[in-house]
Amino acid sequence: MSIESSIGLESEQPYPYHRVELVEPDWTRFPGWSQVTAQEWASVQWQRAHCIKNVRQLRELMGDLVDDRFYVDLERDQAERATMSMLVPPQMMNTMLPHATPRGAGSLTEELYADPVRHYMVPVLSDRRTDWSSHPHATRDSLHEHDMWVAEGLTHRYPTKVLAELLPTCPQYCGHCTRMDLVGNSTPTVEKLKFTARPTDRIEAMLDYLRRTPSVRDVVVSGGDVANMPWPRLEDFLMRLLEVDNIRDVRLATKALVGLPQHWLQPDVREGMARVAGTARDRGVSIAIHTHANHANSITPLVAEASRATLEAGVRDVRNQGVLLNGVNADPHALLDLCFALLDGASITPYYFYMCDMIPFSEHWRVSVADAQRLQTAIMGYLPGFATPRIVCDVPFVGKRWVHQLHSYDTDRGISYWTKNYRTSIESGDSEAVSRTYEYYDPIHTLPESGRAWWAEHGDLDTAALKAAEAAAASRRTARAQLG
Ligand code: SF4
Repeated sequence: MSIESSIGLESEQPYPYHRVELVEPDWTRFPGWSQVTAQEWASVQWQRAHCIKNVRQLRELMGDLVDDRFYVDLERDQAERATMSMLVPPQMMNTMLPHATPRGAGSLTEELYADPVRHYMVPVLSDRRTDWSSHPHATRDSLHEHDMWVAEGLTHRYPTKVLAELLPTCPQYCGHCTRMDLVGNSTPTVEKLKFTARPTDRIEAMLDYLRRTPSVRDVVVSGGDVANMPWPRLEDFLMRLLEVDNIRDVRLATKALVGLPQHWLQPDVREGMARVAGTARDRGVSIAIHTHANHANSITPLVAEASRATLEAGVRDVRNQGVLLNGVNADPHALLDLCFALLDGASITPYYFYMCDMIPFSEHWRVSVADAQRLQTAIMGYLPGFATPRIVCDVPFVGKRWVHQLHSYDTDRGISYWTKNYRTSIESGDSEAVSRTYEYYDPIHTLPESGRAWWAEHGDLDTAALKAAEAAAASRRTARAQLG
């Protein structure tokens, strides 16, 4: 590889493993929560009612411990770049600055700027790159999931698996969200796609497709985040899903297990989960929870309690699908710290780290395929094989591929080429679907000078932005046509 590493791979080998006790940071260190009781903290209603949704609320929480320049930076990002609106539950906010000791006005500013969880949950304008803030090939629906909708919100992208997007909201919004085209509230930068059918009609259409498509055996039940669906409606959907004979694997996608564990600890949710898991067991179906943690600081005793509650309810496994993000975890020790906190502390199996997808304004988070390969190599040998996460690249029109599976790689221009071994639902008539190569692009700032010069000449940003808008509009037309 000639491509230079742009990230911190200087961490020493061997990784110095030692068992770390999980700690719930003391929330009363923040002025706005100095009077919050343990009972309030444990209440999901209190957590939801006190989410940080805007700059004013963050100021109220932090008092004068953070300088004005941070708030101005955040405000500008929300107005000019953010693809997700701000929504941070107290539980998640409390995993930022976990060891901070306030020492007067402005004393937490630099630590907040440097905080890994802040980097992706509360992005600011100065985090983003100013040379290539978006890759010319970035698009709103970078994985083309809408193109593969077989019913509104049901993506059939792999031969035997589907993704069911039940709802477009989450209890927390991550700045790098790959479904930024659909999930969350519109921002000044992005007008979100809206589901058009009624929720009950969408669910009927999904179940109908699954009943008449016996080749599908595996359903990822997602959104958004299933924790935002009222439990009785989610349970009803899951019970009906379990009646479909061909469905053998069900995976519930919920970052809330980490961001709002109080949700999964509610008695009605635990009891409901036990009913669903019991039915799944009786029918020989494997039901698992897939969560999304990106940094060890987010794994606290409450997260562990929520994870174990779902396992006690009969869920087969809780697995983590993190995202590989520069400034957050793109370092071998940071990845291993997280994996051991998950595995030792919370009974959560490290499963995947996805490379951050090519959405607009994500270049400061993305790493090159070469660096992802180096990271994968650097974390081998420490975790049990079943809990050694795979770092994967979700290649547009191909799907997930382990980062060492590429077909070829132009490291000068940062273009990797990938192949696929099956056709998706929209390629049945495409004779070259499994013989051609598909491209994935490294961030331009990670390229050698000659590669950067090539993109300066060929990467027409205006045209690229237009292409992204056209692709998004085409996705919507396809989705409407499929609805029919
Ligand atoms: S929890 Fe998942 S779907 Fe929701 S904003 Fe974060 S990445 Fe997107």
